[in-house]
Order: sequence, then structure tokens, then C-alpha cells
Amino acid sequence: MNLDHILKELAGDHQELKIMEVCGTHTSSIFKNGIRSLLSPKIRLISGPGCPVCVTPASYIDKAIEWAMTPNYVLLTFGDMMKVPGSEKSLSEAKADGARVEIMYSPQEALKKAAANPELTYVIACVGFETTIPSYALVIEQTERSGLTNIKFLTALRRVMPALDFICATDNEISAFIAPGHVSTILGSQAYAGLTEQYMKPFAVAGFEGEHILIAIYDLVKQVENHKHEVHNLYPSVVKPEGNAVALAYINNYFESGQAFWRGIGVIEDSGLYLNQKYRKYDAGSADLAGDTAQKTTNCRCGEVILGKINPDECPMFGKVCTPAKAQGPCMVSSEGTCGIWFRFTRK
Ligand code: SF4
Ligand code: SF4
Repeated sequence: MNLDHILKELAGDHQELKIMEVCGTHTSSIFKNGIRSLLSPKIRLISGPGCPVCVTPASYIDKAIEWAMTPNYVLLTFGDMMKVPGSEKSLSEAKADGARVEIMYSPQEALKKAAANPELTYVIACVGFETTIPSYALVIEQTERSGLTNIKFLTALRRVMPALDFICATDNEISAFIAPGHVSTILGSQAYAGLTEQYMKPFAVAGFEGEHILIAIYDLVKQVENHKHEVHNLYPSVVKPEGNAVALAYINNYFESGQAFWRGIGVIEDSGLYLNQKYRKYDAGSADLAGDTAQKTTNCRCGEVILGKINPDECPMFGKVCTPAKAQGPCMVSSEGTCGIWFRFTRK
């Protein structure tokens, strides 16, 4: 099957289809490659909750700021968390007010810093899905081995499968899913088999090049039109059916699952990962946030954006009061946030 044939087919007549690309990196590639313009208007691509920054609750940001304001404590975070709004302010605003926040490029940096500054305690802001969770587990292992007692972990770690289950259970309109490529390298393509069976929705695991995504869309369109619902791994060079056993073992060794609050969405059972009993001594209060559903009331419609119910430009604040420079919601902040991607690619 060559690409010209696929392009011709996808531009042709189809039944109404709604395909969710779960991962923000896919959303970005779809825009970069102008993929929407190549499809029949009946094939609608919608974004999903695939960016951990977007779903991190305000209470987590508040807790991180609390640590950063505590004498002798330093909060370490990746840069993309800096502008996410908490209930009062973002980490960036807190830093301007004197909070001790440092941007890290890898959580490993905490080990060196903590060894060099024993009078300070470093709290690592750990946000992410299965793709990044093993790297945090590795730092916990190294902390334990080193005997350092001045490193803590503030976690907002999320599992993708319960979120997909939640979406399948609550949204009948989605016809098919482009499965998140990065997460799939850890979980394996077979992880989606249960969902395809239960909800009769096809999944295609895809890489991030434009061509990969077009092939995945074509595969899903054909599956839906032929009343099939299977998992097709279209990224076999990277994603194995069984996933990455070493990474999964790391996750299971250090973390246990529990309920978690997803910003804009609500509580999803079993969708959070928390340090297990053996390593709970390193926790910086994350477990206490598990049932915290407090949410700042704003007109931000991120919840609907990340569930694929509206496109960002349907939010009245898009591009007006809400821009990457002054984000009103997390989806405008992250480089993988749907609103930010739409802003960068649709406004010239
Ligand atoms: S445009 Fe801004 S306010 Fe609207 S949904 Fe997106 S992030 Fe929220
Ligand atoms: S909306 Fe946010 S969370 Fe969802 S895929 Fe896009 S970037 Fe990721």
C-alpha cells in the first residue's frame, strides 16, 4: 500500500468518524504536517489527555509552592511546569515572590545537589505518565543506595490505561484511537487489547512522523468501516507487544496505584501512582493529594479540550485572554498542550 493510495483514500468519501490521538506529540505532528487538510472533512481528529502537565491539579502546584517557600527546602522541576496555574499562582510567579524553585533537566541532578548541600532538602516535582515514571524510580533507588536523607519526591504520576478506560466508558462518539507511541513502548501494544474487546474500539499504535500518523488513520478508518476492532501495532521497531519488562518492573517495585484527580476531568480510580509503603518515607505529601478535588473555578475549558469534546478555538478565551504568554489553563502552557499547539500552528 503506497502513500499516494492512502492519501487518495483518506480524502475520499467516508462515514462520520472521530479519531482521538491520545498523545500531545501526535497532536503536534498532525499540525506540523498539515494532516487535517489532507483528510475528508468527515474524518475528525480530536486530542486526548496525553500530556501530564495539562492534567496536573492546582492542589499539586499549591503543594509544590508550599515546599519552595519552606526555609531550607528547594523545589526541583522541569521547565514546562513553571507556568501551570495553581489555585493562587504558578511556580514561576512564586519564584518571583522569593520561593526557591530550580529548573532541572533530569531528576538525577537532585543526587549531586543533595550531596553537595546537606543543609538543604530537595523536593523533586515528579509529573508524568509511564514513559517517565521509570526514571523517577531509578532516582529513588539511587537515593536509597546513597543513604541521602535530603531528597523527597512530590509525585503527580498518572497511568494512561485507566484514563482511556474512563474515556471509552463515558464517550460513545469516539470511533477509534491512535495509541500513544511513547507510553506504548513501556506498556506494550497488547495493553490495549482489553479496551478494544470491552468497548469494541480499534487502536493503532503509531510513530510520530507524518507518514506514520497517516498510515494509522488509514488503518483505523478501514477497521471501523469493516466493523473490526483490533489493536494494530504500526510502530513495531520501537513498540513490542509485551512492552518493556525492565521499566515495568521498576514501576511496580516502587509504586502502587490509587485514585487520582485529573485536572478538568475529575477523579479516576486507580489512575495515580504513589510511592509504596516501603518507600513512602521519601514522599513529600503526594499521597495526601489523592482525594483532593479542589479546583479553581475559571472559565477555562481544558477539561473539554482534553476529552476531545471541543477544539481549543471553541473556548471563548482562546487567543484573546489566553495565550502562551499568559495562559489561563494548563493546555495553553505545555509544549504538548492542545491549546498551545493550536495557538502556534493556527495563528500567524
Ligand atoms: S484556550 Fe486557554 S482557557 Fe481555553 S481551554 Fe485552552 S487553556 Fe483553557
Ligand atoms: S491536551 Fe494536553 S494533555 Fe492532552 S494531549 Fe494535548 S497536551 Fe497532552
